This record gives sequence, structure tokens and C-alpha cells, in this order.
Amino acid sequence: MADDDKQSPGTGPSPDELQQSLQEFFGKMGNVQWGMAGMNSEEEESVPEVPQGPGADSVFEFDYIPRDIKAHLDRFVIRQDEAKKALSIAVCDHYNHAKYLRSLENESGKLPEGIELQKQNVIVVGPTGVGKTYLVKHIAELIGVPFVKADATKFSETGYVGGDVDDLVRDLVQKAEGDLDLAEFGIIYIDEIDKIATRSEMIGRDVSGRGVQTTLLKLMEETEVPLTNPMDIRSQMKSMMSMQQGGGAAKDTVNTRHILFIVSGAFSGLEKVVRKRLSEGQIGFGADPTERPMDGELFSEVETQDFIDFGFEAEFIGRLPVRVVCEKLSAADLENIMKFSEGSLLRQYEREFEAYGIMARFDDTAIGRIASLAEKENTGARALMTVCERLLRDFKFELPGTSVSELSITEELIDRREELLEEYRELGRKVDVEKASRELDAFCRDFQAEHGVELEFKPEALSKLAEEAAEQGRSLLQLCRQRFRDVQFGLKLIQKNTGRTTFKIGPEAVKDPDKYLSDLVVKSYRSSDSEEETPSGGV
Ligand code: ADP
Repeated sequence: MADDDKQSPGTGPSPDELQQSLQEFFGKMGNVQWGMAGMNSEEEESVPEVPQGPGADSVFEFDYIPRDIKAHLDRFVIRQDEAKKALSIAVCDHYNHAKYLRSLENESGKLPEGIELQKQNVIVVGPTGVGKTYLVKHIAELIGVPFVKADATKFSETGYVGGDVDDLVRDLVQKAEGDLDLAEFGIIYIDEIDKIATRSEMIGRDVSGRGVQTTLLKLMEETEVPLTNPMDIRSQMKSMMSMQQGGGAAKDTVNTRHILFIVSGAFSGLEKVVRKRLSEGQIGFGADPTERPMDGELFSEVETQDFIDFGFEAEFIGRLPVRVVCEKLSAADLENIMKFSEGSLLRQYEREFEAYGIMARFDDTAIGRIASLAEKENTGARALMTVCERLLRDFKFELPGTSVSELSITEELIDRREELLEEYRELGRKVDVEKASRELDAFCRDFQAEHGVELEFKPEALSKLAEEAAEQGRSLLQLCRQRFRDVQFGLKLIQKNTGRTTFKIGPEAVKDPDKYLSDLVVKSYRSSDSEEETPSGGV
């Protein structure tokens, strides 16, 4: 879309005028250091800098073969073998083409005439939560190119199409930390693409849907996207500032020729379109009256015309030659995700409990039960998080800070959650002397490192602290940090008066540290020989 399209007459300065006045403004201000109120650090990072760094070179060192990429994906993504294969091939072909074109360009200074490149943009069909985004994210990470994701619905909702779609490309520049060369080899992933299909029975959305298809089409073919949004004053100012600071005009557009586009959606209804066509052709599929979602078998029958009948423009769908299905995940798949994916949610939960000093372990019975509960949610692997969160929320809330140091997550714990939680509560109130002693050691170590004073707790003092901590449902470490918060001042004074560096803490000192400390301070003034124990067995 031309910039003029976005500016209706009489609503203010045109983008060019705006740029001109900003330039004049900054010209007057000289070379000033700027900080902008209301801009968070993330936004600060996103200022497109003068391109630099080896980013794009690494793309041209691209020497993966499809099998390498699939092997990497296998570590994280369970099932979806066809999608893994198709994406691996598409990515290799895409970057090998890019490499080839770049070498021709380097030889002759420009791209030779008549070189045709049919980009391997991909369309992924599949329900939510089955790994579509996850696949693309891991591909981008492996080959080291920036990756952005957006929902196609976002574009139709704004009603102002061009700017938003171009923002995807600008987001790639941000992701590449301002490295334009690298951004030009990024991956743009657009989900919910089926929502911009314009089926004839869906009048109303037609106009914006077709509009988005047309703008996306331009981007997918080849276009130059300005680095700053002409309508966004803040980014105009930022780019102006970086020009001021960096000196001179850098390249200010991003070419989309080598950007790989992957679009996806659930496409519910596409299976009906295909079945209808097949039944008309009497191949046998149509005879099946059951409404099954799209699977690999049916997907192998999908033709371009089906996408057109679904509501896509022929040119748009023509730019998406690689088509692949991601299948629904069964309970067994969800189980395998938990057990074998390197990104398994279970590791995340274990780490979260570990941060509170609790060793949480999921056993196989629990994994099976979580998988079957999650399958019922119908949101793919996303449901694993929903189910775990629901099952473990109370445990995560109540156990930290108690003396519970192990949580065994079993089928029984899931089925008898309330009873087991009560048992753990009970356990949490009991004193775990070993754990308490470890925490006390940690406290003494930190205290000595921070204040240069050694504390030695007597066993009676340890049990008193452990009991109190258990009663209050907090950790011994927290209790000590609070109870002995300011004692270092008194202890240092005594240290100064007597030269003493080690202090023995008895139960009375635990009970009322202030009293003991003041007694000791007084005593330290009277006698320089304070090595003997105080009568009350304290410090
Ligand atoms: P979508 O298909 O809707 O794009 P995502 O790829 O975002 O779904 O999946 C959501 C999360 O679920 C991922 O971040 C990942 O942790 C997990 N997940 C989904 N599918 C799989 C899979 N096949 N194998 C392993 N993990 C998966």
C-alpha cells in the first residue's frame, strides 16, 4: 500500500512533512543525548541501528541438510513427522536458493535478469497446540535467523491494513537487534490465516480478509518495507536520533525477497470442502458420514482449488506451495511429550519447586493421568499446562516455606488431591531437623561472609528455631534472617572491645536476641575477657 493511502486529506501533515519537520527540529537541538519518558528498555533495544555484525554471513554459511534439521526438531517436537520433513526441506531449499542468489549478486554486482525464484513459503494446517509454532521457533533458533509470529486476525481487526503487515518486517529487524542483513533472511510466521479466508457465505469479513491477503501477497513476493513506520511519530523520532548519533543515513528499507513465510491455521471446514469434492468425484471418501478432522490421509488429497473454495485468492494460495498437516495429538502423544521432549513442562515444574528447596518428581502413573485429562481439553499440548496448573496450584502455594523437601507426584496425588495435600500440610508442620540444620549452616555462612563474624548455634538453639519455623510455616532461613537482622552491629562492637570473632548462640539468645546482645555489650565494656560463657548459656 502506498503511504498516501493511509493519509486522508486534511488530517495533519503527510509522513514526508512530518519527517521534514522532525529533521529540522533535531537539527536545531544539536547532538544531544536523549532519553524518552515512557519508553521501556525493551523498546529502547528495538531502535533499528545501523546494520552491523556478522548475522547475514552466517546465513550464507548455511550448510544444513534436511535430515539435520529434522533431527534437531525430533529432540523437541513429538510426532508431526510429515511437517518436520516438509519444513526441513523447505527451509534448506529456501536458504540454499538465497545463498545462490547472493553469490550471483556478489559476482555481478546485481541480480542477473531472468532469475526466477519460486519461494518455498509454507502453509501448515492443524489444530491448536500441536506444535506448529514450536516447530518454526526451533527451526529459526537452529539456523540462527530472527523469527516473528503474529495472528492474521490482528490485521483485519485494525481496519488499517498496510501498516500492520509491514510491522511484521520491522519486528524482524528488532529481533535481529538492528541487523538489517540478517532480518532480510528471517522467518515470518502468521497463525490463524484461515480467518482471512473470504468464503462467500461470510459476507462482512470479505473486504478486510481480501485486503489482508493482497498486502501479505506483496510481502511474500518482494517489496521494500521502510524501516520506520511513516505514521509512527515515536519511531520516526528514534530513527532520527540514531541518525544523529550514528552519523549519516543508513539503509532505511528492508527487502522481503528472502524472508520465509510460514502461515498456519486450523482450517476447520477445509475437510468438508475436500470431502465434498471427492464425493462428487466418487473416490470413496465422501461416503464417510463421520465428521473427522483433517488428518494426513485426507490432507494428501487437498488441492489448490480446495483452498480457493475455502476462501483464498488464487494468487495468495499460489504463493504458498509447501502444504503440510500437523495432526491432532492423542493422550499417548501427550505422554511422550512430557517424557521425551527436551522442552518438557515437567522439567519446568521440577525447577519451579526446586527453587523453594522442594524436590518434586512426577512418576509414570501421574504422567499417564495428566495426559488423559489434558486430551479431554482439546487444546493439544497447551492443555498440559492447564491441567498441571490446576492440579498442583495448592501444593505450589502451601508447601514452599514448610519443612517439606520432597513432593512425589503420583496418580494417587492427582486422584486424592485434598487428602494428600492435608498429609503434606501435616508433614510440613513436623520438624525436619536435617533440613533445618542445612539452612542454619547456610545462614551462618552468609552471615560470616557479610559481616566477618562467626556464629555457632548450640543444638538446643537449632531445635528451638526449627520448631518455631515449622509452627509458623516458614523456612528456618527466613526466620533467622528476620530474627537476627541487626545483631551484627552489637556483635561488631563486642568484637572491637574484646577481639572476639566467634559467638555461641544458645536457646535464650534465640528467644530474645536483643536482650542477650545488650547484656553482652555491657559486659564487654566491663571486662575485656569475655571468653567465658554467659550464665544463661547465650552468646
Ligand atoms: P500451535 O500448534 O497452536 O502453534 P504451539 O506450537 O504453540 O501450538 O504449542 C504450544 C506448546 O505446547 C509448545 O510451546 C510446546 O511446549 C508444546 N507442544 C505442542 N505440540 C508439541 C509437540 N508435538 N511436541 C512437543 N511439545 C509440543
